[in-house]
Amino acid sequence: MTQNPRILLIYTGGTIGMVKDFETGALRAFNFDKLRQHIPELKQVNCSIDSISFEAPIDSSDMDPAQWVMIAEIIESKYQGYDGFVVLHGSDTMSYSASAISFMLENLSKPVIFTGSQLPIGDLRTDAKENLITSIEIAAAQHKGFPVISEVCLYFEYKLYRANRTTKINAEHFQAFSSPNYPPLAESGVHLKFNRSLIPETSKAAPLIVSKTLVSDIAVLKLFPGITKNTVESVLRISGLRGVILETYGAGNAPTSAWFIDLLSEAISRGINIVSVTQCKGGSVIMGKYEASLLLQKIGLINGLDITTESALTKMMYLLGKDIHPENFAHTFEKSLRGEIGTNA
Ligand code: ASP
Repeated sequence: MTQNPRILLIYTGGTIGMVKDFETGALRAFNFDKLRQHIPELKQVNCSIDSISFEAPIDSSDMDPAQWVMIAEIIESKYQGYDGFVVLHGSDTMSYSASAISFMLENLSKPVIFTGSQLPIGDLRTDAKENLITSIEIAAAQHKGFPVISEVCLYFEYKLYRANRTTKINAEHFQAFSSPNYPPLAESGVHLKFNRSLIPETSKAAPLIVSKTLVSDIAVLKLFPGITKNTVESVLRISGLRGVILETYGAGNAPTSAWFIDLLSEAISRGINIVSVTQCKGGSVIMGKYEASLLLQKIGLINGLDITTESALTKMMYLLGKDIHPENFAHTFEKSLRGEIGTNA
C-alpha cells in the first residue's frame, strides 16, 4: 500500500461534465480536463488522483454492454496500480451499469464507486462536488491496511449503496437513487460513517476475474391489467430470445388465465429463462404465497426474490454469457453472487 492512496477516476460522461449547447440549449458532455478545472478542491484531497476518460464522453442513455466491457477493461488493466476506482457516469442508467460491473468483476478486493450528479459541475448549486469528493474519500478509505470497501458501490447525495441494489427514483431531486431492499453501506454527514456490519471483509485470496461476455438477447416484460395475448406472445417469440425479466405484481403475482400460463410454459420448454421480479419499489417475490403465483412456480419460473429489475437484467446477461447448464441456471440465478439478492445477502 502506498502512503497516499492512489485513485483512478474513470470519466464516461453524464450531466456531471455537461455544458449547454449554444445552438440547441440541450446539455451535452464535454471533456474531462474542463471538468477538472471546475473542482480545484481535488488538489486538497489526501490521495493521488489520476484520470482516464472515454474518448467521446456520452449521455448514459447511450450506455450498452460494449461500454461496460470498456469500463471493466480499464479497471482490469489499472488494477495493480491503484487502491480504488471512481467511475463518473450519467445517473439515468447508472444502476444498470454499476450492477453489470458488479457481476463482471469477480473476487474484487478494491473499491469501485460509481457517482454522477443531477446538475453539471459548473452550475452554482451543483451536487457534483460533494458526490465526487466524497466518492474519492470512500475509494481511498483504508482500515488496517485494507480498503474499507471492496465491492462495486454507488454514491449519491450523502449515501453509499451496494450498486446492484440501487434504482434511480427521481429525475429532479438530488436524492436520485434508493436501495429499497438493502440499507446504505455508509452515510456522509459531518463524519463519514460506514455501516461495517453490512460490509463484507476484504479478502485478497483469489485473483480478480473479469467476465466480458454479456448476452443481450433478453427482454423485460412488465405486466399490466389488460395485457393481451398478442403482446405476450410477440415478446416470447422474439427470434434468438434467451431470457425474460417478467415484472409481476406485488409478491410475484400474475394473471392465471390459461393462455398466459401456457405461453410462458411453452417458452420455458424452448429453453427461455424467465425470472419473476416484483414491480413494487420494495419487498420480495414470494412464490406460492398466492394462487396467482403458484402456477408460475409450477411451470418453472425463476424466483427473483428481492432483486431489482436493473440487477436481474444484468445478472441474466452475465449468466447467459457463462454457458451454465440449463438445469443449473435457475438455481444459480436465485443464489447471491455479489450480495444482490436475498435478505441475508
Ligand atoms: N442524461 C444524463 C445521463 O444519464 C443524466 C445524468 O447524468 O444525471 O447521462
